[in-house]
Amino acid sequence: MTWKTSQSAVMHLTKSAVLAGLQCDKRLFLLLNRPELAKTRHSPLAQSGIEVGKLARTTVSDGVLVDRFGADAQPYDQTQALVNDPQVNAIFEAGFRYQDTDVFVDILERDGDSWNLIEVKSSSSIKDTYIDDVSVQYLVVAGTGVAISRVELMILNRNLIYRTNQGYDGLFIREDVTDRVIVHSHLLADRIAQLRQNMTSTEPERHVDGHCNKPFPCEFKSYCEQQDGDYPVSALPNAAKAIQMLYANGIYDIRNIPAGMLSSETHIRVHRATLTGQAELDDEAARVLNRLDYPRYYLDFEAINLAIPRWDNSRPNQQHPFQWSCHIQYQDGTLAHEDFLDVSGFDPRRKFAESLIAVCGHSGPVIVYNQQFEKGIIKSLAIQSSDLSDALLALNQRIFDLLPVVKKYYYHPHMKGSWSIKKVLPCLLPDLHYSDLGAVQDGLMAQSAYLDITAGRSSTEQTEALSADLREYCKLDTYAMVAIVDRLCELSRHQATT
Ligand code: SF4
Repeated sequence: MTWKTSQSAVMHLTKSAVLAGLQCDKRLFLLLNRPELAKTRHSPLAQSGIEVGKLARTTVSDGVLVDRFGADAQPYDQTQALVNDPQVNAIFEAGFRYQDTDVFVDILERDGDSWNLIEVKSSSSIKDTYIDDVSVQYLVVAGTGVAISRVELMILNRNLIYRTNQGYDGLFIREDVTDRVIVHSHLLADRIAQLRQNMTSTEPERHVDGHCNKPFPCEFKSYCEQQDGDYPVSALPNAAKAIQMLYANGIYDIRNIPAGMLSSETHIRVHRATLTGQAELDDEAARVLNRLDYPRYYLDFEAINLAIPRWDNSRPNQQHPFQWSCHIQYQDGTLAHEDFLDVSGFDPRRKFAESLIAVCGHSGPVIVYNQQFEKGIIKSLAIQSSDLSDALLALNQRIFDLLPVVKKYYYHPHMKGSWSIKKVLPCLLPDLHYSDLGAVQDGLMAQSAYLDITAGRSSTEQTEALSADLREYCKLDTYAMVAIVDRLCELSRHQATT
């Protein structure tokens, strides 16, 4: 199978660039022409993907790894030589170039006179974007004349319960997606040809909407949002239809939306506050918050998602909590702080659960920001430790979620459609900054720090410094909740007297 390219549009593309272009032509343009505008963040998931890839290779016998990055690397020639060598059973990172598109195949496994093309994923389910991914590979590899008999996705077995004494047998599942890929690659060949034909030397005009997060969060989102002004309509929360309607009317800035054009109460509130430049606070927030009993336990967790299970009785891609912070506020106004951090590299769950139960007592609201995460962690700990189950589930019964209260009753135009704690805090308490913290300023940084320490990538001094930074970060998360509640009540009192 071939796909045609116009002579004028011939440009060398990687698989990632093709997939970016399939998502958005502007994204491809920016990747090729203005990569410096990308805001990419180091994610612990990237390292985890590399480890999954390496482990996957051990499930295939007699494989040879192609040298992609060495000083004398000739990956395409080396791959061709390996394909032609009947002694080679499998090729890892096999490189192919066809019609100006490059792909590297995770595993190419010999199957008689043809090959199985295998893509390894850290996920436990098959996503549509994976079919795009392997279809591009299939088109390129088959285009070079290498016969492909099967296309497979190698994913992680979500039902596996890991036991250290049994190793990683059964960790991977191979799913045959050949039929889907053959059908899909016909459509994809046309789309890629179109993509190449439409590649221009000028930046396409596209605006931020749902396509910017699907299938990948676009690294150029802040750049595109800034192009639409300080208050882009894409900041309206949960507004896919409204945003399309506004774009169709040539409206890109929230301040340019005519009165009466929005129907959702939240959108109308965001629009109104953005126009006036003033925060809005409903006194009902204070009434709800003042009803909370004492002592109040403000709680936050940090957890690590391990694609490859590391401890007994854990599954692939399970979240493992390794840190909590708790501010305890008493009725007389005094505030105590307790925390837990386990960076030993051993299973932290049991100690995490026991210490959590001990600190939270038997009564009083357990206040969190966006309860889904904390409740999910506590529930999985309860399943893990049946003797602690009642005490843990009792904690879940006491959880009070602060997010819906803030979302319903407070908005500041600088929040730009987001009620995340990191957006709310500087609006209510400009002197409290996450940016004043050390090497850990958000959840991703916390996960990276945990992995660096437990993998032995940090020296003793670095481990001590990172541990202190982890404690300070989590402490600020819970202190921020205390401060937000107090500030909302204070502002409400002030409003009542003016
Ligand atoms: S942010 Fe959206 S519009 Fe902008 S390049 Fe990315 S996908 Fe395209």
